Amino acid sequence: MNDMDDPICPLCLRLIPNSVAQSKHHLIPKLRGGQIGETVLLQHICHKEIHASLTEAKLARDYHSIERAAAASKNC
Ligand SMILES: [Zn+2]
Repeated sequence: MNDMDDPICPLCLRLIPNSVAQSKHHLIPKLRGGQIGETVLLQHICHKEIHASLTEAKLARDYHSIERAAAASKNC
């Protein structure tokens, strides 16, 4: 068991150990052409939060980089 191998959630900057629910976020929503686009691994709770606070249209238009998405999640 080596914590250094765990990925880091870019939204909350905490480690994502295997034991924690996790999911991939499409930087461009799938319905808006992002199905072949870049994905980032997030904690599932953070993934739910970003979709609860931002619509697909906003994500596609304004939050298609993880830096912006992370900034938005800190403001909510
Ligand atoms: Zn997180």
